[in-house]
Amino acid sequence: MLICKDQEIWAQFIDYIQKRISETEYKNWFSQINVIESNNDCTTLEVPNIFVQEYILDNYRKDLLVFFPANKDGELSINFTIKEEQKKRIKSPILPQAALDKDECNFNPLYTFENYIEGPSNQFVKSAAFGVAQNPGKSFNPLFIHGGVGLGKTHLLHSIGNFIRTNYKKSNIKIITTEAFINDLVFNLRNKSVDKMKRYYRNLDVLIVDDIQFLQDRVNFEEEFCNTFESLINQTKQIVIASDKPPGQLKLSQRLVARMEWGLVAHIGIPDLETRVAILQQKSTEKKFAIPNDVAFFIAERIYNNIRQLEGAINRLAAFSQLSNSEINIEMTQNILQEMLFFTPQKRVSVDSILKAVASAFEIKISDLKGECRLKNIAQARQVAMYLSKELISDSLQKIASSFGGKTHSTLLHAWKKISSELEKNQTLFRQIEIIKKNIES
Ligand code: ADP
Ligand code: MG
Repeated sequence: MLICKDQEIWAQFIDYIQKRISETEYKNWFSQINVIESNNDCTTLEVPNIFVQEYILDNYRKDLLVFFPANKDGELSINFTIKEEQKKRIKSPILPQAALDKDECNFNPLYTFENYIEGPSNQFVKSAAFGVAQNPGKSFNPLFIHGGVGLGKTHLLHSIGNFIRTNYKKSNIKIITTEAFINDLVFNLRNKSVDKMKRYYRNLDVLIVDDIQFLQDRVNFEEEFCNTFESLINQTKQIVIASDKPPGQLKLSQRLVARMEWGLVAHIGIPDLETRVAILQQKSTEKKFAIPNDVAFFIAERIYNNIRQLEGAINRLAAFSQLSNSEINIEMTQNILQEMLFFTPQKRVSVDSILKAVASAFEIKISDLKGECRLKNIAQARQVAMYLSKELISDSLQKIASSFGGKTHSTLLHAWKKISSELEKNQTLFRQIEIIKKNIES
């Protein structure tokens, strides 16, 4: 015989849980449960099928324990019984929609190659991305794009997606953030549908993954990702990955790092002044806001390491100009953007200033840095100077290399790679370079 109190407790529990879960979850898991029996130390719940019983025990045990008694072993004292008419035709409940059942390709239509402004800092990575989009699976695979926040990684990923969508209509393509991949996996583990998920991912033609750095310290997920990755690469399906660091600096297994380095690793650097001005002008045009040239330069000199901030500046100015119905000038810009602007314009670092700082740190002559001498100390100093020049100056590699006594861009690239990988294991060199950087800037 049902004790009224248990109905009340169940009602209280439902009230509590409804506030904590989505409507779909509630409908799927709780709406068809009834309290049918109770004695002093046990409550019996009637559930539509065994799946619901297992699911709520797996997922809501702690919540149930708040309302229903535990037995001597601390276990929940709830019995389950399956609804009579359902017993014969057990079927799985309507599961909440997993991410992979939703529209796969929500590419941002505003992120295209056409409106991606090129400059020395991103020319290489843009042409690599374009190459991949033109020939998925056949040029660089995987393509690994890395660079700081707000420098256009996501924009490039979506450009690849939009291009493939338009030009390879039948291609099975998915863009996903690493967080969404993890959520997908959690969802499918919970619903015992991991095989379905695996099949889904392994049947893609193009997989684009954003912000892979979020896979760090997620060992279980990393393994599944690595398997998916290998399976796609083995079938020459295209993979594109974006990250805030190069593969070697990510805290991921050697196996995955090695896989990510297989193809092409391309870096997006900080855009130079002219590129920043061009970006400002383009974003203003998109907003139908006419930005005076001097204002564009004024902003680009003071916001230099994040394009998202440049866009934020344009949004504010455009809104102000519209509301006040007035033309923007430098004085107004300074007031409106006060807290966004760096007070001193970024000092332009030159190869000469880098050579000077490196020569003094290594106690050698500038002419040695530009020369051909292969003595270990001099060769390393030269490579450090080349590394710093590539990192800090956004001119073309060719132009920078020629300032080192007419060297080629591949020598410069080789030096940059060598020092980059050395930095991962050599703390002394890391500190030395940090000190040199400070000396260049001061
Ligand atoms: P990230 O993913 O590297 O953090 P995003 O791709 O989100 O950066 O870029 C931030 C904003 O800057 C976006 O609105 C993007 O359109 C814009 N942006 C970045 N680089 C460029 C570029 N080269 N040309 C035009 N817009 C750019
Ligand atoms: Mg991004």
